[in-house]
Amino acid sequence: MNVLVLNCGSSSVKFQLIDPILAEPLGKGLVERIGAKDAIVSYRSGGKNAIREVREIPDHDAAIRRALSDLLHPDYGAIKDQSEIDAVGHRVVHGGEAFQDSVQITEYVVETIRSCSKFAPLHNPHNLRGIQVSMELLPGVPQVAVFDTAFHQTMPPEAYTYALPLEVYKKLGIRRYGFHGTSHRYVVGAAAERLGRPPSELRLITCHLGNGASITAVKGGVSVETSMGFTPLEGLVMGTRCGDIDPYIVLYLLENDGMTIQAVDALLNKKSGLLGLSGVSNDMRELLGEAELGNANARLAVDVFCHRARKYVGAYAAVMGGADAVVFTGGIGENSVPIRERICQGLGFLGIEVSPELNSQHAPNISTGRTPVLVIHTNEELAIAQDTRRLLCGS
Ligand code: ADP
Repeated sequence: MNVLVLNCGSSSVKFQLIDPILAEPLGKGLVERIGAKDAIVSYRSGGKNAIREVREIPDHDAAIRRALSDLLHPDYGAIKDQSEIDAVGHRVVHGGEAFQDSVQITEYVVETIRSCSKFAPLHNPHNLRGIQVSMELLPGVPQVAVFDTAFHQTMPPEAYTYALPLEVYKKLGIRRYGFHGTSHRYVVGAAAERLGRPPSELRLITCHLGNGASITAVKGGVSVETSMGFTPLEGLVMGTRCGDIDPYIVLYLLENDGMTIQAVDALLNKKSGLLGLSGVSNDMRELLGEAELGNANARLAVDVFCHRARKYVGAYAAVMGGADAVVFTGGIGENSVPIRERICQGLGFLGIEVSPELNSQHAPNISTGRTPVLVIHTNEELAIAQDTRRLLCGS
């Protein structure tokens, strides 16, 4: 079965054609700067034949058409005929409280995703556009939605409820939803396999550390707490997002600094985090390099990032009454030896003892203590393809 996995953002479309059993992409690509005259199209099939082109891509419709023509290209394509696409799996950011799992797309599902757009106005409308365009271009091909929020719908009320007047939740739906669920769920499966134990027996702390970052407590295979909240702004220090702050800071900035709502939004989402603290970059590699050269602001940014992450690991061990393993994933979690070491420093009381040697080898388990620390490459596209197969074929 070939599943076309689509991830439609505001100005980009990422796509992969995957056979969920072979687990390797047959072809994959990215259309960036949609809407611009100089959009960037890149495509690669089966690990070879890379192309890159700059051309006008006016809208998502054109971007998905282009993705299909790359996949079908006689020289570098992955398939010969459109009929070789058996299903489409869409990444959808927000499923609100309506979706606890992935779902085959129907009219009702489309309307429900639309009703969740109020929670994710920068994402859901583009995800929906991708769904509509691929339904038009691939009529009769089943489509599945896989939600970033779904995995976290198992959180108990004490974890997802903010201590605001309950009306705020009941009327407006303001609660913790959590994100990155597809990645957290994928690494839980991989961790259980690596540990040779079923997820139902495990208490895992999964750390997805990329440009966006979140940590989840997973008990018995289900999410019981996660660091992102009503939006992806809460929790850890991220590339450009602040993570946890005292909410009164927002009011203070509006009242005393004369900032507009839009300016505060940009400050919190685009100018804070590693970038805001360091004044140098949102890229952890660059910051580590700068810190090494003695840049005090870069060092502080790294310190705050690691301190915040360690705090969540400790808190989530407390939430679950211990942890059987910690998992690192995402660009930083999978690759950064010093960041893993720094986050795990002082966690000996949880049985976490990171070995410098194993860590620098990116070994499957970098801890020599009783609690394994696993480095696992996340693969959200494969998880989406697998869900699509599970829903359509029952396995
Ligand atoms: P996104 O959330 O955009 O998918 P990624 O998961 O690709 O982000 O992670 C991007 C982050 O990973 C960047 O901060 C980048 O610097 C970091 N990263 C990638 N490789 C390394 C590395 N070898 N060492 C440190 N950080 C790394």
